[in-house]
Amino acid sequence: MTNPDLERKVLEAVPTGLLIGGEWRPAASGATTKVEDPSTGEVLAEVADAGPEDGMAALAAAHEAQAGFAAMAPRERGEILRRAYEAMIGRADDLALLMTLEMGKPLAESRGEVTYAAEFFRWFAEEAVRIGGGYATAPAGGSRFLVMKQPVGPCVFITPWNFPLAMGTRKIGPAIAAGCTVVIKPAPQTPLSMLALGQLLLDAGLPAGVLNVITATDAAGVMEPIITDGRARKLSFTGSTGVGKILLRQCADKVLRTSMELGGNASFLVFDDADLDKAVEGAMLAKMRNMGEACTAANRFYVQRGVAEEFAAKLAERMGGLKVGRGTEEGVQVGPLVDAKGREKVVDLVGDAVENGAQVKVGGRAADGPGYFYPPTVLVDVPKESRLNHEEIFGPVAPISVFDTESEALAAANATEFGLVNYVFTENLNRALRVSEKLESGMVGLNTGLVSNPAAPFGGIKESGLGREGGTVGIEEFLEVKYVAIGGLG
Ligand code: NAP
Repeated sequence: MTNPDLERKVLEAVPTGLLIGGEWRPAASGATTKVEDPSTGEVLAEVADAGPEDGMAALAAAHEAQAGFAAMAPRERGEILRRAYEAMIGRADDLALLMTLEMGKPLAESRGEVTYAAEFFRWFAEEAVRIGGGYATAPAGGSRFLVMKQPVGPCVFITPWNFPLAMGTRKIGPAIAAGCTVVIKPAPQTPLSMLALGQLLLDAGLPAGVLNVITATDAAGVMEPIITDGRARKLSFTGSTGVGKILLRQCADKVLRTSMELGGNASFLVFDDADLDKAVEGAMLAKMRNMGEACTAANRFYVQRGVAEEFAAKLAERMGGLKVGRGTEEGVQVGPLVDAKGREKVVDLVGDAVENGAQVKVGGRAADGPGYFYPPTVLVDVPKESRLNHEEIFGPVAPISVFDTESEALAAANATEFGLVNYVFTENLNRALRVSEKLESGMVGLNTGLVSNPAAPFGGIKESGLGREGGTVGIEEFLEVKYVAIGGLG
């Protein structure tokens, strides 16, 4: 239930400055930027708007803290993460409300994200004490190989607005576990969750300078000097493929290690041997989590002819029954899109498909009034060349096309430069494995609409990215391997 007093209290508790060297401070220029509630367009808060000078101060703080932090006992680093995990769970309701206010997703989803985000801290608290190494005899005998793993060094993180906490903890967790210091810039639409997390980590005992948070509207102007300076040794970015490519070029200058979690264009394949109710359930999750504003969102539905009509009817019924509104209101299942630009894109993509001959089963028209709402929409008979088959929709729109054969479905699914995730629904084990092997993506959802899990390796291939976050490989992204050749042992 919407509670203005509680909202004010939660907002007032968030630091609004830049976190540099363990202290909160205003931008050197004194500039601030406004944070909006996407369900009303009203201003929620003003936060510091960093300039290049602040960015370099944050980098200097991270650089200065690096050697000391790398020397901290792994158990101690793990315990900081464990305390932060417990604090997040303990404060889940406040953190969820804050996230809903600045990002728009319904409270239940925000609560889910707080738990998911906190789990990265718990997982990497456990990984901090399992950083291994090796010792071996050379094949020809004589010399020995000693292999050790050391922190990469100061890291730069840039995160998007769609998962304001989880996209941060997925990077900060392994960095702290590995002994790396950090400069992080959250998205300008959703800085409050990250600022709250910064304070929470300080309270959990993170030493000054290990995590530096800078909020900035001039992302390129502030981040490029940090990336090209040479003191930072790694960039981890989550965001669009276009921006990822710009950042990769900047990283080339000083040969930074990079992790890139970029855009997606997931297909959702339903074969006629699928359990249709399971497929509809999976579709709701893969499409509607975060109002469709997820890199993992099902972007294109391909359904085998025998079940296409029934699947579309069932999905349209479920989508049409969802309650749209401000995320703080009781029973709301679909919040607003994040901003006017995001909604305009959805309007354009649906308009283009309909002009090309797609039929609207449900939704299809942006709501009037304040806030950036767009109704859950199902389109059928979507022509191949429609823009929404090639671009990320990032909204609650499910375009359905029909296929006849497995090879036709695979060709359609793989006909994209993206390769983050695909979803497959079939009860035939051979087909399930065959199709999973042939899909060109870093992840496959097999009879499930949700793949994200802190204990699993998340990431894409092709233009969806480089590297993996989470799982046992997640920490490796923050470790360098050093090999010592040992001679003289006979
Ligand atoms: P975006 O426009 O690429 O922005 C992401 C972040 O990069 C923001 O903080 C943004 O700040 C910053 N940025 C933009 N240009 C920059 C530059 N030249 N130098 C430094 N920083 C820059 O993406 P978005 O629209 O916020 O997020 C949606 C995208 O993220 C989608 O493509 C989605 O698929 C992808 N995503 C991927 C994953 C994954 O794990 N693969 C997860 C979530 C989201 P400004 O807004 O101020 O420019």
